[in-house]
Amino acid sequence: MDFLTEIEKAKELKTLALSFDNISSAKLIHTRDIVVDERVRYQCSYSGCREYGKRLMCPPYTPSVDEFKNILARYYMALLVQLTATIKDNDNWEPEANKWALELHDIIYKLEKKAFALGFPFAAGLIGGSCKLCPTCPVEKDKSAICVDRERARPSMEAMGIDVLLTCKRVGVEITFSPGQVIWTGMILID
Ligand code: SF4
Repeated sequence: MDFLTEIEKAKELKTLALSFDNISSAKLIHTRDIVVDERVRYQCSYSGCREYGKRLMCPPYTPSVDEFKNILARYYMALLVQLTATIKDNDNWEPEANKWALELHDIIYKLEKKAFALGFPFAAGLIGGSCKLCPTCPVEKDKSAICVDRERARPSMEAMGIDVLLTCKRVGVEITFSPGQVIWTGMILID
């Protein structure tokens, strides 16, 4: 595919992203603006993340940060996608936040498939937060378990070492934290 056709196809993907309910932002970005920082992985490992080692799409089961940097270097552009939703019960926000994380996961999966159909064979989706497709990931009980839904499971941007806040800031996508609202950010690497 020539460069101009690639851009047109990528714009088509962006239009599809914006057609989903609750998608508040979809922006095509250059991969040089994606910030990968070893400190993100350090935080996964040593700052008390409850999901560390409990989900097969989370560290330590994911590629190293250096490995991901090498993979990222092979991509030219990405579609950054944000979902914004209302949390109705602020005293018990986690179930609702998780529900919206799953909603973004599904959208990222669909967009990745669409990107493939548009002619991007290396399209790769990254979700926001840990993979929550199963209520309990089998690895929590059995360290040798394998993923039961490899078709749909995807790792998060954070699991790859991406600094989501700084990446969003660099490309002019705002993330504001406010009570009663949840924002989840995901990405499709396109090539
Ligand atoms: S799909 Fe299920 S088994 Fe696979 S990583 Fe996600 S939670 Fe774990």
